[in-house]
Amino acid sequence: MGSAPFFVARAEGAKIWDVDGNEYIDYIGSWGPAILGHAPKIIVDAVREAATRGLSFGIPNPLEVEMAELICDWMPSIEKVRMVNSGTEATMSCIRLGRAFTRRDKIIKFDGCYHGHADSLLVKAGSGALTHGRPDSAGLPQAFVDLTISLPFNDANRVRKCFAQNKAQIAAVIVEPVPANSGLYFPTDNFLSVLREECTRNGALLIFDEVITGFRVARGGAQEIYGVKSDLTALGKIIGGGFPVGAFGGRAEIMDQLSPDGPVYQAGTLSGNPLGMAAGLAQLRELERIDGWKLLDDLGAQFEKLARDAIKFATANPCRGGQAKINITFHRLGSMFCLFFASGPIIDLAGARRSDLKMFTRFFHACLKRGVCFAPSQFETGFISTSHTQHDIEATGAAVREALAEL
Ligand SMILES: *Cc1c(COP(=O)(O)O)cnc(C)c1O
Repeated sequence: MGSAPFFVARAEGAKIWDVDGNEYIDYIGSWGPAILGHAPKIIVDAVREAATRGLSFGIPNPLEVEMAELICDWMPSIEKVRMVNSGTEATMSCIRLGRAFTRRDKIIKFDGCYHGHADSLLVKAGSGALTHGRPDSAGLPQAFVDLTISLPFNDANRVRKCFAQNKAQIAAVIVEPVPANSGLYFPTDNFLSVLREECTRNGALLIFDEVITGFRVARGGAQEIYGVKSDLTALGKIIGGGFPVGAFGGRAEIMDQLSPDGPVYQAGTLSGNPLGMAAGLAQLRELERIDGWKLLDDLGAQFEKLARDAIKFATANPCRGGQAKINITFHRLGSMFCLFFASGPIIDLAGARRSDLKMFTRFFHACLKRGVCFAPSQFETGFISTSHTQHDIEATGAAVREALAEL
């Protein structure tokens, strides 16, 4: 966030307060988990209640089973699921499982997609790796990098060509079905269906990384919206209700390769611990009870209208302060949104990277000054929670309008 250090002292609902007592409407939402807002009573109560019965057993507990049943019920492509402690663990385990199941080593990912920080996946990665200018992290053995092929998102021909050039060598294709870690953009022209077809034709597994989209964009995740079934799915963020939780699952015959039934080792001391499970279950059940997805889409639509009005106003009135014309592309899916300082269409990392980052930074600070906290990077996504009120959204729209006029 530029030079000023920013430490959060407290968060509740849609608001955060920094250590100096300043209040902000928050759109980071812990980078996704806080879909009901911060510290919702229903989750805090569930965690408090669970804690009185023990913090971690290292032995299965009923809450894990309830969570597994819920996940399999909500995401029909998942027949069996295993709990882990982060999204990184989930994607890392999916890759290992995919390699073991297909007895192949190479994987395909897409430029700008972020799948956590396992060695195989930090190639042309998004999120902080991209923001801080190191999409290919230092410290990766070259041998790992050589096994990771990164292609432009939405380029079906490159995918087909890559499979043809690497016959019987691709273990898996891993993708964020809706990329949300280099800004936010969407699959076009049945891109996800092409991935499904190519994987099936070539005996590779399709892995959907729904760590952000899972249970946020719909009850059944992005795979429900786009109607494409993955072989394996990685989950995280929302399913922990603010606790460190991840999960991965998919077709039973693949999951059966996992230890102790199968030869693929995987374990975790705190996996499925009762606090994380209690928090996640409370969050997911509440989302369903209040039909959170409808509520989030309504709030998102309200914000989109205000943002588009503000953008129209700003782009129609250029040259204030001697600035050149402002180009902005606004994207939204339900409660996720992104405002690119670039002209559209934006359908891949190359498009996102055309953004004017200096302009973005000025915009970010202009909003922060007005009590609105967006993610401090052009290459992240904004998250609305069910705790955001219409009044919060209106205040945000006004702040965006003023901030754009000030650029
Ligand atoms: C956040 C994220 C991860 C990594 O999850 P962690 O819990 O931070 O390890 C993986 N994939 C996607 C799409 C993410 O957004």
